[in-house]
Amino acid sequence: MRKPFVAGNWKMNTDSHTSVNLAEKIASVSSETADQSVSVAVFPPFVYLQMVFKALSVSNVAVGAQDFYFEQNGAFTGEISALMLKDIGCTYVLCGHSERRHVIGETDELINKKVTAAISGGLLPILCVGELLEERKADKTNEVITRQTKKGLAGLNAEKVSAVTMAYEPVWAIGTGLTATPQQAQEAHDFIRKLLAEMYDAQLAEEIRILYGGSVKPDNAAELMCQQDVDGVLVGGASLKADDFSVIIRAAV
Ligand code: PEP
Repeated sequence: MRKPFVAGNWKMNTDSHTSVNLAEKIASVSSETADQSVSVAVFPPFVYLQMVFKALSVSNVAVGAQDFYFEQNGAFTGEISALMLKDIGCTYVLCGHSERRHVIGETDELINKKVTAAISGGLLPILCVGELLEERKADKTNEVITRQTKKGLAGLNAEKVSAVTMAYEPVWAIGTGLTATPQQAQEAHDFIRKLLAEMYDAQLAEEIRILYGGSVKPDNAAELMCQQDVDGVLVGGASLKADDFSVIIRAAV
């Protein structure tokens, strides 16, 4: 039985005041749903991680980072390592988010190094995969998902991959207000699960959580999460509004 997972990616938003305020509100919602039937995590900007930890300290909300560099330490000006994130208490890290792939220019090879380093460093990576609009129109969704999944997980055995959460995030749905229909999401999630079964084994594929991301809002979250292979959601815009994020958390319970 896969435990539902609701993750909030704050991206390059909030400031020291609003990040703490948002975290405090999320902590109070999560204590209402403190039956532990849903995993909740937030991904604030690096500079607010520790303030957010403090604000969430009495809750069961986990904290993750939006990115990191795959080396452990050294002359990598401006970068943050998995060890540093682990040191301050991070549980998760995003890898392969479409904004890092398509805006920053990260390759599948770099993403694979990050997934590998995250696991070695004791973090739980969330590997995001998903097609551009033109790829969907050209009927290449499954091809893109296959490439990003196989390359993202290259060299990792089943034991290591069991630390990974997958996120299907069609790029055309991220921050656009367009959402995949529940059927489109289910089809892609079913495809990813079958791909994992082929790459590893049926048990691993059954156990791994696959989140949907792309304009998840309070009014579509429940329908998406009702789908058999949708184990939760990765939320951008709506995770910045405590009330909206709370409705989404409750929809997962
Ligand atoms: C995301 O950041 O992963 C995301 C899905 O954003 P949004 O919910 O705003 O589309």
